[in-house]
Amino acid sequence: MDFTVSEKVQTILGMVDEFVKKELLPLEPDFFSKPLAEIDPILEEKREMVKQMGLWAPIHPREYGGMGLNLMESALMYEAMGGTPLGLYCFGTQAPDAGNIEILHQHGTAEQKEKYLRPAIAGRIRSCFSMTEVEMPGSNPTMLETTAVKDGDDYVINGHKWYTSSADGAEFAIVMAVTNPDAGPYLQASMIIVPTDTPGFNLVRNIPVMGHSGEGYFSHGEILYQNCRVPQKNLLGPEGHGFIMAQDRLGPGRIHHCMRWIGICNRAFDLMCARARDRIIAPGKKLATKQIIQSWIAECAADIKAARLMVLHAAWKIETVGKKEARNEISMIKFVVANVMQKVIDRAIQVHGGLGMTDDTILAHFYRHERAARIYDGADEVHKVSLARRLLKEYEGRKVR
Ligand SMILES: Cc1cc2nc3c(=O)[nH]c(=O)nc-3n(C[C@H](O)[C@H](O)[C@H](O)COP(=O)(O)OP(=O)(O)OC[C@H]3O[C@@H](n4cnc5c(N)ncnc54)[C@H](O)[C@@H]3O)c2cc1C
Repeated sequence: MDFTVSEKVQTILGMVDEFVKKELLPLEPDFFSKPLAEIDPILEEKREMVKQMGLWAPIHPREYGGMGLNLMESALMYEAMGGTPLGLYCFGTQAPDAGNIEILHQHGTAEQKEKYLRPAIAGRIRSCFSMTEVEMPGSNPTMLETTAVKDGDDYVINGHKWYTSSADGAEFAIVMAVTNPDAGPYLQASMIIVPTDTPGFNLVRNIPVMGHSGEGYFSHGEILYQNCRVPQKNLLGPEGHGFIMAQDRLGPGRIHHCMRWIGICNRAFDLMCARARDRIIAPGKKLATKQIIQSWIAECAADIKAARLMVLHAAWKIETVGKKEARNEISMIKFVVANVMQKVIDRAIQVHGGLGMTDDTILAHFYRHERAARIYDGADEVHKVSLARRLLKEYEGRKVR
């Protein structure tokens, strides 16, 4: 394994780090306290600056105006951008657009690419991904109730989705709906592009998540599809291939999620150490002199390092032997990194005492919003069960002494 970072990437990472510190971190207090509409124009300015610097859309293809970085390179960039909730958005690589762009690039028709992919990469429009349903278990995506029934040249979609992140203000949704109910469980659903101004696409509400409903890009929508009619040419990829296409994007997407979380760990760790170093807890005594705090700091440093190396190793394995061979590593990093992040944020809050509970630092924001990491993109338990099943299979008929 060689994790050497090329000079080109070192330069990029230096630029990202400087931009985040100088341009984005100072925006955070306003981002937490003001309506999004007020800071949106400032975010637009920052996005324009990123474009001018040549750092826009790091993972997306060059032919469409992205940087076209490979997986290892983009992983490091996600770490650098990840320490602020504004990072990915301002660099044009935020979820769920990033995943939707990948799907459109791989499976879209020429017309779909012109209409949706190009403006999405350019950051002119946003999108959302609408799979999880209110009444059905998101952990078992073969149990979808949303249907897309052919009628003339159209599909007519009916269903009740939620956690369609960033639906508020999105131009289109990629909707997972059952088109082939009689096929095998993994060949029943298709991905269909639904412009959000289509009659029957009803954004019921932005769901309150940990006390915040959010708005615009920073929100999670509940959507009622009621006789929502779109032309059949809006089908993405082959009919019935929705799961296959969703599975296909899991590897690189997972690396990016996990490296963003490592970026959050780094930020929380920095804050924890700085607070421990500065906080006086007895005359002439700083918090950092207490062994229990030192133990937390050492543990967190080791946990972050181990988690980071696991992700980079998984990325390396995907690049060298492919996603299929790297399946176990891809499962492992999901629950390991999410739990490390949760622990590091929690310890950082504890070190800050009452201050950690306020919105005067970013820690409470992380605590609220990043708990979800153990649920979305496959809950911890789902990954553990499928990993264990694969591992145990290797022992079938094998003699172990
Ligand atoms: C912040 C956030 C953003 C999201 N964004 C999107 C989005 O943009 N688009 C979208 O479509 N969805 C999105 N989701 C939904 C997410 O993918 C689902 O919440 C997730 O798949 C879990 O499904 P569920 O909520 O229905 O939980 P369920 O499937 O009901 O599972 C509940 C719990 O049961 C346990 N469990 C489930 N299956 C097993 C098993 N096989 N073995 C052991 N235990 C098990 C786990 O602990 C799990 O947490 C988002 C969710 C969150 C929280």
